[in-house]
Amino acid sequence: MSDFVKPEVRALAAYTLRQYEYRHKLNQNENPFGYPEALKAKVLERVARADWARYPSFDLAELRAKLAAHSGVTPEMVLVGNGSNELIYVTLAATLSRGDSVVIPVPTFTLYRLLSRVMGAAVHEVLMRPADDFALPVDEVIETARRVQAKVVVLCSPNNPTGTPYPAGAVRRIAAESGALVLVDEAYREFSGQDFRPLLDEFDNVVLLRTFSKAMAMGGLRVGYALMRPELAREVHKAKLPYALNLFSEAAALVALEHFESHFVPLIEAIRQERERLYRALQEVPGLHVYPSAANFLLVRCEARPAREVFEYLVEEHGILVRDVSAYPALAEHLRISVGTPAENEALLEALRALLG
Ligand code: PMP
Repeated sequence: MSDFVKPEVRALAAYTLRQYEYRHKLNQNENPFGYPEALKAKVLERVARADWARYPSFDLAELRAKLAAHSGVTPEMVLVGNGSNELIYVTLAATLSRGDSVVIPVPTFTLYRLLSRVMGAAVHEVLMRPADDFALPVDEVIETARRVQAKVVVLCSPNNPTGTPYPAGAVRRIAAESGALVLVDEAYREFSGQDFRPLLDEFDNVVLLRTFSKAMAMGGLRVGYALMRPELAREVHKAKLPYALNLFSEAAALVALEHFESHFVPLIEAIRQERERLYRALQEVPGLHVYPSAANFLLVRCEARPAREVFEYLVEEHGILVRDVSAYPALAEHLRISVGTPAENEALLEALRALLG
């Protein structure tokens, strides 16, 4: 039976997430404050008025217009997907043929490697090192991309799971010199103050990927979007599934954009402040090294106890679920901790101090 499956796919390990029981969920970089209740009511009103029997909007014209205004581009430059995961899939499907090469600085979000392999591409990883605070090795990325004639280079900024923001000049150089299509994953951009939108004025080989799953508190609703030049957007769009976005999610995204300044900016600001507070407090916990982060999570290295032991202690004794990233390249003994509500962060700190302090 499985002989029918492509060898590239059979060779892969599945992307999995083991389920644990928890009280505090600090493992997936979600917005801990949730989608504002007052806005949920507005979404439900809209959804109640809609005709569920009919297919949702074909071209998502209203949402794309609002996203264009929100992002400072034109609507022809916006593709909307069922989570940014769908747009990663679609962009790679539209660009990669079997035997093509992809360059990925690692450690980073693992879906890029997985999907590139599904498309039959060869993945060339460039290692970022803890000793350099996971700085992007720009020359090495460019040199590798040119040597393997990469079709695609993937840059995630701020990077997951390190929290590192890549300097705009570094991304610009890679766009100018790699000869590849450069996918810039900005899933955590709202927490960083970074905006790579100006690259789209300069380059026709840049795709920006964004999501409603993190800052916009809509992980459960699956909305992502991509920004790119109109010529490229027209081509990539051909690889999309029609009607991938359902009308519930569309309504929630519209309401979120309409209330971005009033309801989401304060939440984002609170998360950024909590990140800084948590960063400083974690620096004081003995046996932990914490890295600076421009995202809504912090990467820590466990120096006194094995990371696995700290992970299990947190979830089993305190119901605090964090992410064990110790199997990622260069991240032995590392855990990734999402910034929670102030109470959750306090619970985390108390638990860690009790174990390590
Ligand atoms: N890119 C990065 C860097 C991520 O961390 C994630 C979520 N873990 C995604 C994309 C996928 O997000 P979405 O929910 O929009 O599919």
